[in-house]
Amino acid sequence: MKFEDYHFSDEVKMSIGKLGFKKPTDIQFKTIPHILRGEDILAIAQTGTGKTAAFAIPIIEKLHAKKKFQSRKDGIKALVMVPTRELAIQIDDVFKKLAQNTRVKSFCVVGGIDQGPQIQKLEEGIDVLIATPGRMFDLVSQGYIVLSRIDFLVLDEADHMLDLGFIKDIRDLLKFLPAKRQTLFFSATIDAEIKKLAYSLVTNPIRIQISPKDPVSKNIDHALIKVEQDDKRFFLERIIKNYPEARFIVFTRTKVRAERVVQAMERVSIKCLSIHSGKTQEERNEIMSQFNKSLINVLVATDISARGIDFPDVDFVVNYDIPEQPENYVHRVGRTGRGIKRGKAYSFCSPQEDPLLLQIEELLGKKITLVDIGYSDYSEVVKESEDAHTDWKTLMKQMDEAEKSYAQRKRKKK
Ligand code: AMP
Repeated sequence: MKFEDYHFSDEVKMSIGKLGFKKPTDIQFKTIPHILRGEDILAIAQTGTGKTAAFAIPIIEKLHAKKKFQSRKDGIKALVMVPTRELAIQIDDVFKKLAQNTRVKSFCVVGGIDQGPQIQKLEEGIDVLIATPGRMFDLVSQGYIVLSRIDFLVLDEADHMLDLGFIKDIRDLLKFLPAKRQTLFFSATIDAEIKKLAYSLVTNPIRIQISPKDPVSKNIDHALIKVEQDDKRFFLERIIKNYPEARFIVFTRTKVRAERVVQAMERVSIKCLSIHSGKTQEERNEIMSQFNKSLINVLVATDISARGIDFPDVDFVVNYDIPEQPENYVHRVGRTGRGIKRGKAYSFCSPQEDPLLLQIEELLGKKITLVDIGYSDYSEVVKESEDAHTDWKTLMKQMDEAEKSYAQRKRKKK
């Protein structure tokens, strides 16, 4: 079935076309008709499956139909709760694009920036609010956000909300919402705790599960490279230089390691930037904007900063460090092969990380294909690096300096 065959208004169809979406993805095909019928949804779907449009399209369609009879003074009609600021900004962008030909207005409130302009915007009146819990509750308690007339509540990445400790916030939220509303609950994974939370929010939901057996998108090719910890930078350099036009996201375990990778790449003339929780919101927005405009093609990220973000057109995900939480493997590699595109995921595994790899393979239910690098190829990668001649003392000094300057910046910020 194509989008043009759906009974959407011309205005919504036009913006779907403008986004280049022709056919619905699996999750869209399964959820949209139920949401249009007013049913509650409990969907298990990982990022990259097109889940944002799966709830944004029907919500906009329904609000657009109603809007003809409503004034904006009626208050916020849909609330989308998300765990991170980046995800909130990204979802707002999708709502804005899909609602561009309608009178439906969306807006996102996130922490880390001045609340004055947010209050002004809220006072002008909006229909769809996308929010992270902290700032939203501040504005609710100050009376700038009224949630008593919500028709739709969307909880996105509910599993991540729980990981970040937002469970109490979500429970508190219920006090402000009308009992009669449509609730759409999305989570990448499901366990007893998430089920309990979901069933406290939804009423007779339609349960939808995407790729139940395989948690990772079929569009991704996975490869494993066995490499010593200290040689990882040479292999990263080689892959990036082999694909000069490609776009990469490189995941490290910590912020300090992310900074080190950036410096190691700079030494070999590879332009890249890092994104992690040690950066301010403004810095993170600027980095995202540079990456989105392809001004840089290599982004080094930590798990927490990248979860749920839709980085456009990423060709490679590199697990520079094997994630400590096996589920994070799924979230990381999900940054590529999104929608209908294909992607590659390379994992650099040092001998010390073998136990973590085992856990990941258990979660995936299969082995990740090992790239067999012989001794001579391995040493060639190291030898051919532009950085191969940096002696270890200089390197240690550079690393020390990097750590010091990072710690200094952090202190200053505090
Ligand atoms: P999401 O899981 O919502 O973050 O979406 C993942 C990616 O899929 C985004 O880049 C969307 O633009 C893209 N996408 C969503 N729906 C479709 C569709 N029906 N056809 C093609 N691409 C899509």
